[in-house]
Amino acid sequence: MSRSFYPPQRTLMGPGPSDVSPRVLGALARPTIGHLDPLFVQLMDEVKELLQYAFQTENELTLPVSAPGSAGMEACFVNLVSPGDTVIVCQNGVFGGRMKENVERCGATAIMVEDAWGAPVSLERVAAAFDEHPQAAILAFVHAETSTGVRSDAAALCALARERGALSIVDTVTSLGGIELNVDAWGADAVYSGTQKCLSCIPGLSPVTFGPRAVERIRNRRHKVQSWFLDMQLVMGYWSGGGKRAYHHTAPVNDIYALHEALLMLREEGLEAAHARHRLNHEALVAGLEAMNLDMAVAAAHRLPQLNSVLIPEGVDDAAVRALLLREFNLEIGAGLGALAGKTWRIGLMGFASSERNVLYCLAALEAALARQGVAFDVGGAIPAATAVFAA
Ligand SMILES: *Cc1c(COP(=O)(O)O)cnc(C)c1O
Repeated sequence: MSRSFYPPQRTLMGPGPSDVSPRVLGALARPTIGHLDPLFVQLMDEVKELLQYAFQTENELTLPVSAPGSAGMEACFVNLVSPGDTVIVCQNGVFGGRMKENVERCGATAIMVEDAWGAPVSLERVAAAFDEHPQAAILAFVHAETSTGVRSDAAALCALARERGALSIVDTVTSLGGIELNVDAWGADAVYSGTQKCLSCIPGLSPVTFGPRAVERIRNRRHKVQSWFLDMQLVMGYWSGGGKRAYHHTAPVNDIYALHEALLMLREEGLEAAHARHRLNHEALVAGLEAMNLDMAVAAAHRLPQLNSVLIPEGVDDAAVRALLLREFNLEIGAGLGALAGKTWRIGLMGFASSERNVLYCLAALEAALARQGVAFDVGGAIPAATAVFAA
C-alpha cells in the first residue's frame, strides 16, 4: 500500500539544497495555470527582469533553464563550444572536472589548469595556458567552488579571457545571491547558476545569462547544437519577449512561481544587504568554530561565506557526527568531496539558511556531537564567541 510522503523539518546547512523559505513554498502551492496563459507569459517577463537584477546584467538572453544547475552548465558548453575548439578549463575542485567532461563531449579539447583543492584559480597559470594555446576560444572556471569553499577572482579571470580574445564561461551556482556577482562589470560572456543554493528556492532550475559576444557566437555556429533541449536558438523563441512565444517545452509552471518569489525576496532585501548578511553569519560561525579549536580548511582571504569548509579533528568519526546531527538535531551539514572526503565538513550558510539562529543552532549541535566523540575542548565556548560577533 502506498502512503503520502511527509518529510521531517530539517535545517539544511550543507552544500545545497538550502532551506526554502515558507514564502517560496507557499508560492509553489498556488494553482497551476497554462504555460502560454497571458498571465504566465507576464510572469516569465518578470522573472527575466528579476534575474537581470540578481546577475547585475542587461543581457537580453537571461532565463531559467528548466532543469538543475548541471543543465545550466551543459547549456553554456553545448551552445558555445563546437567540435575542434580548444577550451581552457580551470579545476580546483569537483566542478571544474565536470566542465572538462562537457568540453570533451562537445568534441573539443580541454586544456586543464589545475590548482590545489582549497586554493583559488591561479591567474598566472591561466595566463601561461593562453601563452601556450593562443587558439583557445573559451576560458571556463568556477567562481564559488562548493566542493572546497573557495572563491576565485572572477573579475580578473573574465578580464584575462577578454584580453586574449576568448569568451568566458562562469559557474556561479553557489555565488548568486550570496556574494558579489556582477556579470556586466566583469564582462562575463556565459554565466549559469542554480536555484537551490543562495537563492533558497527549490532545486531544479538553472538561471543562465548570455552576453552579446556569446549570442553572436551562438548565431554563427556551423554545427548544430548537439542537445535539442538546450539549444538556445530554440529556447530563445520560447522565452523572448513580445508575446509571440513558440512552444518549445512546457515550463515547470509552479517552479517558476517559486523562483519569482525567491527573486522578489532577494530584491526586497537588496543584493548588498544579502551579501552583508552572508558575511556576518560566516564571521560569527568561524568565531564559534575557532572557539572549539576547529581549523578552517581555506585561507581567510579566499573563503566563501556561504560554504564553510572545516577540518575534521584527528580521531573524530566523520560519518558518526553527521549522522548524529541529522538524527538528534534534524541538522544536515555536508561531507567533504573528492580530495577532501573524510577530511572536511562543509557547513552551508546559504540564502534563507544564512541566519543568526542557524549559526547558533549549528554551533551548539556540533559542540554536543564533538563532546560525545570525546574531543577535549571548552564546551559552551562557541556560543559566546559567535554572539560577540553579532553584538559588535
Ligand atoms: C550545486 C552545484 C552545481 C550543480 O547544480 P545542480 O543543481 O546540483 O545540478 C554546479 N556547480 C556548482 C559550483 C555547484 O555548487
